[in-house]
Amino acid sequence: MTGERVYNFSAGPSVLPEEVLKKASDEMLNYRGSGMSVMEMSHRSRIFEKIIGEAEERLRRLMDIPDDYAVLFLQGGASLQFAMVPMNLMGRTGRAGYIDTGHWSSRAIKEAGLFGEVEVLASSADRGYTYIPAMSPIPEGLSYVHITTNNTIYGTRYTSLPDTGDIPLVADASSNILSEPVDIRKFGIYYAGAQKNLGPAGVTVVIIRKDLAGGHLPKTPTMLRYDIHVEKRSLYNTPPCYAIYMVGLVLEWVEAQGGVQTIYAQNQEKAELLYWFLDQSDLFSTMVEPAYRSLTNVPFFLPSEELTQTFLKEAEAQGLVNLKGHRSVGGLRASIYNAMPKEGVEALVAFMKDFERRYGRRR
Ligand SMILES: *Cc1c(COP(=O)(O)O)cnc(C)c1O
Repeated sequence: MTGERVYNFSAGPSVLPEEVLKKASDEMLNYRGSGMSVMEMSHRSRIFEKIIGEAEERLRRLMDIPDDYAVLFLQGGASLQFAMVPMNLMGRTGRAGYIDTGHWSSRAIKEAGLFGEVEVLASSADRGYTYIPAMSPIPEGLSYVHITTNNTIYGTRYTSLPDTGDIPLVADASSNILSEPVDIRKFGIYYAGAQKNLGPAGVTVVIIRKDLAGGHLPKTPTMLRYDIHVEKRSLYNTPPCYAIYMVGLVLEWVEAQGGVQTIYAQNQEKAELLYWFLDQSDLFSTMVEPAYRSLTNVPFFLPSEELTQTFLKEAEAQGLVNLKGHRSVGGLRASIYNAMPKEGVEALVAFMKDFERRYGRRR
């Protein structure tokens, strides 16, 4: 740890690479000789067009995004995508399939229901969302199928994708975009709020196969039409300029680390360290089935609420913060996104070991 910074295990907004924050700080008053901050620039200026263009190019390189896909920088968070996806795609047949893997997919399902008929194709609610359900053959006539690739609250992730054939697969990847390699061609739309693994809150990245834009329902507001944003290259109105700049810096950092493969290897190492400890512990436990364990969000539990509170208090005193589980599941959760250094996970595991030695049953 440098200076007074802590290890921040927040689920989102979450830790950013220190190098990125330093660079933003260096460029705050005078962005590369422009004499102004990125926050003060016209979004129509050549200098900002370069910022947004480079961010897009970096993401295209990192994720190997082909030319028939557009990369959009929108507002409204992943939550607005819950509505934009059906408003723009549901018109094809009036029906869409959703897989229910917890809180965020439930929200997506609820929103889609405003615009058409929703079929829940599979759900893991029966075992407390601790796994990813298998999908039975896809019914005919669906406009698209929606999944949540990583379930931030329950700590599950898709380790293999459902085969939807010709039906576009739409994914909310808010909490695991760029944490592991994906074949973007398998998706019709792949979207993510930035504040988990990409940058600060305020911008949402939407990667969309271009032929899926333009089929919006008749009363769709202009701002919520994918075709408009594709045509205007995210500059239909004022975009979240500063957040886009920050995403660009994070993408530059990911490239400097060696790209997504390197980051993936680091993420596996970090997650294994934590799961290894949890699996052999007599005091801590984790509910998630091993085949579906998230690389980015790790929920875990202590046997009592009292111990949980003690853990949180002591951890914070050690500079290990934001480890409280989501209010809907309780317990504890460590979010270990790309920007969490391995040292942070090592410090957490060392603290947990010590905690177990002091509070666990004597063996
Ligand atoms: C955080 C999160 C959301 C909500 O994102 P907002 O940008 O706050 O709307 C949606 N889906 C997943 C998987 C998330 O982790």
